[in-house]
Amino acid sequence: MTKWRSRETGSRSARAFLGVLLLLSPLHAQSPSSSAPLVPELQRAEANWAHASTALRAAEEEAQKAEEKVERLRALYARGLVARRDVEWAELEAQTARARLAAAQEVERLAREALARVREYAERAAERERQQHRVARALVRVARSYGQGRFTMSDLAALMRAYERRFGLPLPISAFGQTPTHHRLGLDHRGRVDIALHPESEQGRWVIEYLAQRGIPYIAFSDEIPGSSTGAHIHIGLPSLRK
Ligand SMILES: [Zn+2]
Repeated sequence: MTKWRSRETGSRSARAFLGVLLLLSPLHAQSPSSSAPLVPELQRAEANWAHASTALRAAEEEAQKAEEKVERLRALYARGLVARRDVEWAELEAQTARARLAAAQEVERLAREALARVREYAERAAERERQQHRVARALVRVARSYGQGRFTMSDLAALMRAYERRFGLPLPISAFGQTPTHHRLGLDHRGRVDIALHPESEQGRWVIEYLAQRGIPYIAFSDEIPGSSTGAHIHIGLPSLRK
């Protein structure tokens, strides 16, 4: 009888365990997209602010020129070269330019504040999304036990017999030892077995209870992530090592 003994211990197996979790996590296939609806809003706010800034610079220039014209005409008037009315006209123009500048400053301030609000909102949405991902990731790690760290062929044979006695169906083994899928994932799955049962189903709970009572190591992957249908299974044996 072949004994499947695991040689890895301590931090090496802990590292491998993390690797398994990350690789088998169905979240891998999901891409963050919930902040996407904010993009047009952000672009609009940025465009508004850019427009307001351009208008403000133009108004500043216009006001500056109007002030310079008043100074110039006042100097000319002092030398008797222009009429008083010309100075008054330039002063009125400068006053109008100052009013337009004040309005442009207000528009720019509002656009800048609106942009800051949209950016803050987008940042908070992104942070919420990151948190949701962390929560979803945590849900994948439903249960694990290193037990006595040993899983043998006779353990498997006994489990298969017990399961069939209990449920009248063969144990649904989805991966027996190394498979092409595990090979692609870069995992050494030799001496490990995957059972296609949801850890929270009646059968799944029974298998976990069976393994726990006998100190057989397992990892129960529960696929609780909305929109994902793969991933739930019970892995029997110590965590797969990265190849
Ligand atoms: Zn497995």
